[in-house]
Amino acid sequence: MRKVVIVGSGLGGLSTALRLSKFPFEITFIEKHSTPGGRLNQLKLNGYTFDIGPSFMSMTYELEELFSTTEVENKLKLTSLDPLYSVFFEWHKKPFRIYKDLKKLQEEFNGIESNLEEKVKKFLNKAGQFFHDTESHVIRTNFRSKFDYLLKLTKVPKKHIPYLFKSVWSEVSRTFESQELRIIFSLVAFFLGSTPFKTPAIYTLLNYTEMRHNGYWNIEGGMYKLVEFIVEELKRRNVKFIYNTEIIDFHSKNSKVQALIDRNGNEYPADYFVINSDAAFFRGKVLRNKRFDEKKLDKMDWTMAPFTIYLGLKTKLTNLDHHNYFLGSNFEGYASKIFTSSISPQKPYYYVNVLSKFNPECAPVDGESVFILCPVPDLRFKPDWSDREELAQSILLDLSTRIGIEIEKFIDVKVIYDPIDWQNMFNLYRGSGLGLAHGLNQVGALRPQNKDKFYKNVYYVGASTIPGTGLPIVIISSKLVLERMIEDGLIR
Ligand SMILES: Cc1cc2nc3c(=O)[nH]c(=O)nc-3n(C[C@H](O)[C@H](O)[C@H](O)COP(=O)(O)OP(=O)(O)OC[C@H]3O[C@@H](n4cnc5c(N)ncnc54)[C@H](O)[C@@H]3O)c2cc1C
Repeated sequence: MRKVVIVGSGLGGLSTALRLSKFPFEITFIEKHSTPGGRLNQLKLNGYTFDIGPSFMSMTYELEELFSTTEVENKLKLTSLDPLYSVFFEWHKKPFRIYKDLKKLQEEFNGIESNLEEKVKKFLNKAGQFFHDTESHVIRTNFRSKFDYLLKLTKVPKKHIPYLFKSVWSEVSRTFESQELRIIFSLVAFFLGSTPFKTPAIYTLLNYTEMRHNGYWNIEGGMYKLVEFIVEELKRRNVKFIYNTEIIDFHSKNSKVQALIDRNGNEYPADYFVINSDAAFFRGKVLRNKRFDEKKLDKMDWTMAPFTIYLGLKTKLTNLDHHNYFLGSNFEGYASKIFTSSISPQKPYYYVNVLSKFNPECAPVDGESVFILCPVPDLRFKPDWSDREELAQSILLDLSTRIGIEIEKFIDVKVIYDPIDWQNMFNLYRGSGLGLAHGLNQVGALRPQNKDKFYKNVYYVGASTIPGTGLPIVIISSKLVLERMIEDGLIR
């Protein structure tokens, strides 16, 4: 039987293995970390369960497509969220709940934005056109060459072209009068690891996927259930997993990789290799491709680094939702500096997820399992994290003031991951949380492709290859790799 080695067991790698498991391949995962899932991982301490990275699922139809084409009966319980999340502004006492139901949304912003329902409808109609008009030509497709990419781009209606050059911020500013709504509708840019001032307006398509097309979903028991479910299914299909093993070198012959080599010198020969490690970093670091050496990687645009705190609290947080954003009063100043400033943010902007709200099994009866994510500069701009306690403290103080509970008093468990931890755990380049950014210079055929240029039997899947980052998007990435393999005649 032909052998496939998959380097990395992130969702991209796991989805690829599920798709490949339908065909006669012997599949082995080599994973650096001690558990599967990559960034979609889990921490369990003192009766508290934390999802360490992703906290919401969107575009769930991608998951359904993955399971239906691989003949897996989906036993996960997913629930659609409405409200999607709450937003806490520094200058308002009350948080704003963001409803998909536009009548309720209008009520929430009475006195702040007039004709909101109408404005949002119009905004989402346009964002929906961006989504559906680019989906098949740009998002769900492989590119044979840059010319092929240009050809596919010509199929996108011309009227959308200006939105490649305008920013998300200019689009939301044109639509909404209040600073509150402008900020809320521009938060999607941060999901791409960038700012609304740098992100092309075409990405407001994410507002459409969030508010109308599919929304946000809770996975019962926590996000990690998804990893456990897929891994169980893969083991049933005889897929092997090797953990605590990092690939650092390789052997090649006649433009083919013959074997990958780990830190201890063990060799892993195979007929084909699927790389779920970062597609740019792996090319440079392991395959020693000069186009991706450290100097070149440092010049590329990377997404923000995460600074994350996991709190097991011995109290209930009644005034928080499942997803919550805490925003300061200097949005433009903050967003323009945060990704490149070496200073710890004094007035941090952060996101708080209370996993135990919808999943009581994730915390003791009177407790709460809380995850805090603060976007910070990557390690190129802030390499020293000896002040991590200070930043954590400033976030916890801010949160305590804003929700009226002295959090420090109730801490049972506290774990912090700074960008150095994130880099070391999963080989995330310079601690960048979402991989390569999604500016026009790094999407489509301009993003590292899912097939290696020099080694004919090496493929890539995941956040830094096509189409990009996010859980549903790396599932699409796994579909594109399979299509590439079919094109190459590996699979019939
Ligand atoms: C804090 C945070 C919050 C996020 N929130 C969300 C969210 O709510 N919703 C959402 O959709 N997306 C979210 N994302 C993005 C999402 O996590 C990623 O896009 C997705 O998980 C990437 O999956 P992947 O398969 O590409 O890579 P990864 O998950 O990074 O998996 C790659 C795997 O390869 C392994 N590896 C790397 N190099 C080697 C090597 N040399 N040898 C062996 N193994 C190696 C790593 O250890 C890792 O396990 C979030 C990301 C972060 C960091």
